[in-house]
Amino acid sequence: MNDCIFCKIMTGIAPASVVYEDELCKVFLDIQPVTPGHLLVVPKQHIVGLSDLPEDLGGHLFQVGQRMAAILRKSSIPCEGINFFLADGAVAFQTVFHVHLHVIPRTKGDGFGLTFGENYKKLPGRETLDRIAQEFRNIT
Ligand code: 5GP
Ligand code: ZN
Repeated sequence: MNDCIFCKIMTGIAPASVVYEDELCKVFLDIQPVTPGHLLVVPKQHIVGLSDLPEDLGGHLFQVGQRMAAILRKSSIPCEGINFFLADGAVAFQTVFHVHLHVIPRTKGDGFGLTFGENYKKLPGRETLDRIAQEFRNIT
């Protein structure tokens, strides 16, 4: 049996506080919210990560995420801004291996932040950027 917690939520075996549902996805509140109102947009199909996610389904998840962002802004939940976040792979902080889009309401001083590596402040030269761009353009 599939042991995926999000699949269990999809079938109703595990509980969730659902905000929206259509034929392709469900949106529910994160059990450990970064900030109050933190939502997860999750495809119904068990798809691990971005490389398995059909582009049109990815587009749909983003579209639903935008609608959720509009709801957050109209709601009573404090929301001065919003972050979309998608973790693809353990090194990118993915902990549930069923792809999902986080929609996180933000307020000034909410404590959520990003940290950067030591090299972040050293800007690469144009030559380096162009070389990387060239390599990427050549990959199909
Ligand atoms: P990830 O780190 O994979 O991007 O995010 C996984 C998210 O799923 C985390 O924010 C975590 O709190 C949330 N999560 C894990 N288990 C459950 C659960 O059983 N129910 C809900 N609603 N969220 C969960
Ligand atoms: Zn799953």
